[in-house]
Amino acid sequence: MLIRKRFLSNNIKKYVKFQCITDCSQCCIEREYYPSKKFGKIGVLILPEEKERIERLANENRLKIKILPRIGISKMKDSGPTKILAYQLMGSESNGNTCPFLDVDSGNKSPHGGFPCKIYKERPLACIAYPLIESEPITLDQKCKFCKEHGNADQNLNSEVESLLKIKEKMIPDMPVIWRFATGVGELEDKEIIESGWIIDK
Ligand code: SF4
Ligand code: SF4
Repeated sequence: MLIRKRFLSNNIKKYVKFQCITDCSQCCIEREYYPSKKFGKIGVLILPEEKERIERLANENRLKIKILPRIGISKMKDSGPTKILAYQLMGSESNGNTCPFLDVDSGNKSPHGGFPCKIYKERPLACIAYPLIESEPITLDQKCKFCKEHGNADQNLNSEVESLLKIKEKMIPDMPVIWRFATGVGELEDKEIIESGWIIDK
């Protein structure tokens, strides 16, 4: 009986509910080099159909933003991209960090105690999807503070899954050559390595 109980408890799936860590705003502040330092720090992924809306929201909030291309595609290698699949909203600091929509000055707090997003209800799909990076199986970005403290989660992720699937659907390349835009942005000590402009993705 004892053996059977142990067998059952070892096989009961533990559901872990995702929720942001109290006071955390890390994912709206820290930007990473991707896929390597050469490409500079990336911004928040913006789909082409989101770009105009984000620019309008910046105007309404009297914010200066910089949106660069992120992924492009083309038929030929020598032409540069002929279609842009995604843009990116760059951070407001010179090292590429801190989303311009993050309200760090007003003293207001988000429901979990972090800095609030000025466009929370209309934030980009990439922000809604985060920290989900794969939906089957559900995989969270290990850089997210929740993951660092609790590991993976598999509950309370419906809107994240939905948003990630929408992004994936829009990001299917219908031309053979894929280009990635090097942002030219990063830490001062990395300036020599960081490039700027379109580079063919290997
Ligand atoms: S998604 Fe993760 S990193 Fe972002 S605020 Fe929530 S806990 Fe922090
Ligand atoms: S748009 Fe809002 S949720 Fe997205 S990174 Fe900026 S502050 Fe964070």
